[in-house]
Amino acid sequence: MRRRTRGKRILVCPQCNSGPIFQATAGITGAVYTCQKCGYVGALVLEIEVDEHGEPLR
Ligand SMILES: [Zn+2]
Repeated sequence: MRRRTRGKRILVCPQCNSGPIFQATAGITGAVYTCQKCGYVGALVLEIEVDEHGEPLR
């Protein structure tokens, strides 16, 4: 059997790798995310998988 990840996907900040990062606004140019830890604001975010405890799977 192949191993499957049972985690869920969350979005994390591309600058400080903390997360989850949440969408701040959604304008005509698309979603904008803001990081409360480092102050990053932008449309680029990283998506990672975490387990039930929020720990990254990789
Ligand atoms: Zn950040």
